[in-house]
Amino acid sequence: MHYDYLIVGSGLFGSVFAHQAHLAGKTCLVVDRRKHIGGNLYTEERDGINVHIYGAHIFHTSDKKIWDWINQFAQFNNYVNSPVANFKGRLFNLPFNMNTFYQMWGEEASTPEKALRKIESQKVRFDNPSNLEEQALSLIGRDIYATLIKGYTEKQWGRDAKELPADIIKRIPVRMRFDNNYFSDRYQGIPEGGYTAIISKLLSHADVELGVEFSGADDSLCSKADKVLYTGTLDSFFGFRFGKLAYRSEVFEHVRLETPNYQGNAVVNYTDRETPYTRIIEHKHFEFGEQPVTWISYEYPVDYSKTGEPYYPVNDSANTELYGKYRALAEKEDKLLIGGRLAEYRYYDMAPTIASALALSEKEFR
Ligand code: FAD
Repeated sequence: MHYDYLIVGSGLFGSVFAHQAHLAGKTCLVVDRRKHIGGNLYTEERDGINVHIYGAHIFHTSDKKIWDWINQFAQFNNYVNSPVANFKGRLFNLPFNMNTFYQMWGEEASTPEKALRKIESQKVRFDNPSNLEEQALSLIGRDIYATLIKGYTEKQWGRDAKELPADIIKRIPVRMRFDNNYFSDRYQGIPEGGYTAIISKLLSHADVELGVEFSGADDSLCSKADKVLYTGTLDSFFGFRFGKLAYRSEVFEHVRLETPNYQGNAVVNYTDRETPYTRIIEHKHFEFGEQPVTWISYEYPVDYSKTGEPYYPVNDSANTELYGKYRALAEKEDKLLIGGRLAEYRYYDMAPTIASALALSEKEFR
């Protein structure tokens, strides 16, 4: 069979596009190298609990159009992301808010006015902060930096904070209310039944082939369709001809425990340098589960070279320039469309991914 579109990647971007293509009367073949659909949104039911296999995914947006669009495919619950930080056994609420300041300094920070005064007294002045440590110290001061930022950031990037550029942190938002809601978006929640069910609906009219590795511009699969939508990495599409783009990767270790409630919260960040993982996710709490057992996941940040799984682009100037070269090549290919977090080499949350895939579809099918 010959298709209108070959879609490489059954993640959110490719699946939204496939759905819109169907509405426009187009046929699609979707291929994915993984053995399942959904890309990083993939959830798997274990003991009645939807486990987020590639890290916790909380849907959030202030865009009513996107919220209404995704709600056609699932019922979202009223989960509010309120992570807790564990620093050597001491617990703090996140994001930085009045609860955090009270937990850090007690009576000295019991009102917004006192907390602001305390933060000011902690700040270290630098004329021109030259690395992440100096930047954070100048924005938030010593205690918060040492307890909640330094170790976590060093684990995430695999480097000392003094070796990281200052501009990774542009500002550190503080909330002068007793409010642990991590996102300031108007809408948030978790789809009841997990994300895979949404992707199944989006792909229900497409032909899907899993465990298929698309090798790049010369792949014979291209002859199966008039056009290709590619959502993988652009350097591999062009055979790495200008060099490799850098990424940070993660390893997720999923563990079943014979206890109904391990940590009492979906997300607990470990902010010290010594604990090798950055977070433990307890999945049942995303959907207020009452099962007698639980599933937790440890998240370990690692070098991309160790896993070959690209998660977070390293958007420094060298990589941005390198990406620009690949992007220019892609724009010369008239049968090729690109989109999504990998092909665009940028960190994309789910809502902007949907917005971007809808915008591309509108352009393509108008
Ligand atoms: P992907 O999901 O990566 O899909 C791309 C697909 O293409 C993959 O399935 C891949 O196997 C396939 N593919 C790539 N190359 C090839 C090839 N050559 N041949 C065949 N198949 C190929 N967003 C939020 O809004 N909230 C969150 O809480 C949140 N948490 C996150 C946590 C983590 C750890 C990560 C990494 C991301 C998180 N995100 C979150 C972002 C979210 O995962 C992305 O918005 C979303 O996955 C983007 O979809 P995509 O289709 O662009 O990419």
